Amino acid sequence: MRNRTITLEDFLVQGDEIRHLLAQQRSGRLSHALLITGPDGVGKKTLATLLSAQLFCGAERNRPCLECPACKRAMRLEHADQVVIRRGIPLSPDVKEGRATIPVEDIREMIRICGMAPFEGGNRSVLIFDADTMTPQAQNALLKTLEEPPENTFFFLVTGHPESLVNTIISRCRLLRLHPLPDETIRSMLLREGVSEQDAATLVPLADGSIGKAMQMAQQEGLAEFRKEVLDLFFGMTRRSDILPASNRWKNRKGEADALFTVLESMLHRMMNARFGSPDNGLSSVLPAQWNRFTREAPAEAFTRLYDQIIQARKELQYSTNFQAVFEQILFSFMGEGNQWL
Ligand SMILES: [Zn+2]
Repeated sequence: MRNRTITLEDFLVQGDEIRHLLAQQRSGRLSHALLITGPDGVGKKTLATLLSAQLFCGAERNRPCLECPACKRAMRLEHADQVVIRRGIPLSPDVKEGRATIPVEDIREMIRICGMAPFEGGNRSVLIFDADTMTPQAQNALLKTLEEPPENTFFFLVTGHPESLVNTIISRCRLLRLHPLPDETIRSMLLREGVSEQDAATLVPLADGSIGKAMQMAQQEGLAEFRKEVLDLFFGMTRRSDILPASNRWKNRKGEADALFTVLESMLHRMMNARFGSPDNGLSSVLPAQWNRFTREAPAEAFTRLYDQIIQARKELQYSTNFQAVFEQILFSFMGEGNQWL
């Protein structure tokens, strides 16, 4: 994932806790050990990396600037005074690659490095990703260091499972809990990463507040296919006998309902804009003949009926678990409108 355009400011939506923390960090009052927790994909590692970069950044203000050589190296986790501990990627030469846990040897190697003066004479940062996978022995060794941290050394522990850490480590750290991101934040991050408006609209409801998940999906080929699948189905079908087989294929895809509705809404929006706003020459190749006629001639009420169906379907899904029934109903409505223009 490209993190280049994600900044500390992006994390301010997380609330007062992080606002205070960042204000303190910026005024030079840093916590020696920060424990960043929260669900998958909310940017825990990115935040730890940004805070680590801030320790090395050469800019006068607004650190990390993400432009200077020190920032660039730190964001790639390649700064000489950054010690990075990750599960499966050994720090110690005595440890084999691909282990499922972080062994004590890696912690001892980190302690050895921290015993030397920083290579560039400034701060040093220790990043421990998947901190919950440290063995008990590794946690014990770390605890001793946290109790007497070397000067100018700052620890960033990252984990989605803080309950797997011994309490004595947790109590030595300042705790920062990240929450799922608001839709609008994810949307604007996606747009900045070069994702199109249309793709962003489809991705946001699928992302569950996780920018990591959204970016992963954005990089998959599947999104365009998903949209095509939905459009073919809702604007392409004309026979009632096709509804049941289609709803059978979709009955276990309730998790994609939001994205499905979003695709329909954005297409309706485009059609309505073409009907009552400005011409849209691209539509005729996307839609079959009857829907092109609909777009040219249908009254505003016909559009409203379809929009209402989507609103209704969203509501029903909140109370009902029967996605298949909701799906059939909305498909039936679209077919009914479309078939009038065959
Ligand atoms: Zn910088």
